[in-house]
Amino acid sequence: MAVSWRRGAKVVALLGSAVVLTVLTQVGGLILLLTAWVARLRRWPVGLSLLTFLAVYGLATAVVVPPLAKLGGRDRLPCLVGKGETYGAVNPLLCMLNRNYARPEARTALAALAGHMAEAYPATVTRYLDAGFPFFDGFPLPPHLSHRDGLKVDLAYLYRERSGAPVSDGTASPIGYWAYEGPKSGEARPCAGYRRANLRWDFDVLQPLATRRADPVRTAEMLRWLTTEGRAFGVKKILLEPHLKARWAPDVDMIRFQGCRAARHDDHLHLELSKAN
Ligand SMILES: [Zn+2]
Repeated sequence: MAVSWRRGAKVVALLGSAVVLTVLTQVGGLILLLTAWVARLRRWPVGLSLLTFLAVYGLATAVVVPPLAKLGGRDRLPCLVGKGETYGAVNPLLCMLNRNYARPEARTALAALAGHMAEAYPATVTRYLDAGFPFFDGFPLPPHLSHRDGLKVDLAYLYRERSGAPVSDGTASPIGYWAYEGPKSGEARPCAGYRRANLRWDFDVLQPLATRRADPVRTAEMLRWLTTEGRAFGVKKILLEPHLKARWAPDVDMIRFQGCRAARHDDHLHLELSKAN
């Protein structure tokens, strides 16, 4: 009885881990289940099974997933920023989790935006946050409600140090999210008092850790480019909190409020593109 209880608990733990890995990485859950199946057939100890999973996951992420994703119309966005390059992932973890895939038109638009920013403000590096998973239109990228077709990419703002010195490459938090540019007194607060279920996490405890603030000049220029020249690259819509739109890009139609149900958009901007014909 005790043995079967233990076995049941192991199966639940394995399936739970597979669900978490699928939510985080799309392919990790499947790789975990395949590794566990082989490990069971071969009667491998837990340590060897775990190492095998990590090795197979790493190999798949680096070598197998990118060409397969390409067949389905998704490109892997550049992860690290090499010499002479102008954009990359906010954190290599994003790439290890396979959350840096997008359609080729999104990649082209990002490269053009980053090229412009680096030309207008030399040494400026543009950083993207969550983009999309490698496979299947319609497969969600939690916790985002709409990143499911390779045409949505979150972008980091550009930042200044507390002294006012511009940060050429870097964000206010290690993952780019959760360091909020909250509304000042007198600015719009459309979700004040909103009580229904929502993803507007405030993470108050994290806010004192962020010492950098958004650079209004360069972030406004980023929005200006996206909503003007960016149209030719398929930029369709940007989501941003109303008080930041009022500060950085007032009266620009393409910049919308995401509503009170979705995550806050005063720590990043959400970019949506049209599918190229
Ligand atoms: Zn987004």
